Amino acid sequence: MLETENQNTLSDYKLGLDYALEQDQKDELKEHRNQFHIPKDKMGNEWIYMTGNSLGLQPKQTKLYINQELEDWANLGVEGHLEAKNPWLAYHEFLTESMAKVVGAKPIEVIVMNTLTANLHFMMVSFYKPTKARYKILIESDAFPSDKYAVESQLRHHGYDDKEGLILWKPRENEELLNYEDLETILEEQGDEIALIMIGGVNYYTGQFFDLKRITKLGHKYGCTVGFDCAHGAGNVALNLHDSGADFAVWCTYKYLNSGPGSLAGCFVHEKHAYRKDLNRFTGWWSHNKKTRFNMRGEFDQLPGAEGWQLSNPPILSMAAIKASLDMFNSVGMEKLLVKSKKLTGYFEFLLKQLGENTIRIITPSKPEERGCQLSIQVKSADKTLHNKLTEIGIISDWREPDVIRCAPVPLYNSFEDVYKLVEKLKSILNG
Ligand SMILES: *Cc1c(COP(=O)(O)O)cnc(C)c1O
Repeated sequence: MLETENQNTLSDYKLGLDYALEQDQKDELKEHRNQFHIPKDKMGNEWIYMTGNSLGLQPKQTKLYINQELEDWANLGVEGHLEAKNPWLAYHEFLTESMAKVVGAKPIEVIVMNTLTANLHFMMVSFYKPTKARYKILIESDAFPSDKYAVESQLRHHGYDDKEGLILWKPRENEELLNYEDLETILEEQGDEIALIMIGGVNYYTGQFFDLKRITKLGHKYGCTVGFDCAHGAGNVALNLHDSGADFAVWCTYKYLNSGPGSLAGCFVHEKHAYRKDLNRFTGWWSHNKKTRFNMRGEFDQLPGAEGWQLSNPPILSMAAIKASLDMFNSVGMEKLLVKSKKLTGYFEFLLKQLGENTIRIITPSKPEERGCQLSIQVKSADKTLHNKLTEIGIISDWREPDVIRCAPVPLYNSFEDVYKLVEKLKSILNG
């Protein structure tokens, strides 16, 4: 299990550019920045890229990995399934172990397939089993829109009203973060009507990292199945999915996992379900026993584990990009990554606090174990022109109406200098 303990406190940090440069010098991961393409402005200055939570940057080695597959395809045609340097038939297996490490799971629990929202639906086919008495779905009130649309459509698909069947875990008045006591209250009152709890493991808007184990325990106590969308968690926090006991989880690989726009997604099914043949699911030839898959005639024979939820033979070019990224994650290791991440985000928080409470408010939890690298910053009396001004000067951040900027200093490629410059520019724009 990964340690999420944090040794940094705000008083550990210092003001000034010198301090930032010194931290970059000492940074164990500093060489990794050079392994990425950092976009530049027209003058050739590198952007300050703070949107790795939306689309991670491209590792330089990605092109080599994809080229390998293009070459093998050119030279081998269909024979590449068995003869390619990385044979395509088993290509997804080359990703499993590294991906399992990233999300804290056992290899049998993890598969890379499809895209995120598609995986969420496929998981709900198996883990959302409504009955007349128990059919409701609980989500967080500020869930990512795609997740909300997906669960609403599942309710309708099963013949239920999508308003009546959806229960929202809401923040208290004038607050943004969610409270576990409120979740307990909902479950005490309506737990026996809830079939599924589906929460974003790290909320995309506030950056709040939920206690997956606590939510799962609570949900299971009331007889609900529990799943998480970890799109903002994978590669960003210690998810410990196996240990959480969650029934399933899904995530994408184009945010913190740097695998390219629209790349394939990840899926976790807990080991306790690995050999269950009674679990309903949608199947295809890739969910069939590998040994007899190409006999093509026999009865369907369910492949155990998360692999058994695959449908199709997968897109190898996209998987090559994921392999390029996971090989890097694997060589660094999540432990080291999280140490730097906590330090970098703690430093970011320290500098932002200097701007004063009348100027900004950080929505994201201040406890390092309750967040990843993203900070969501409410800028008092700001509008989108602030975001536009930042973009003009090469600071790429994300704007959410009415007044929130989300910035994610990513430990693999962002530097202390990036964070320093970001806050300096923000300060100078705010001071007019
Ligand atoms: C990014 C994100 C998505 C996007 O879904 P796609 O199917 O990959 O388009 C969905 N849910 C959450 C929570 C996300 O953060």
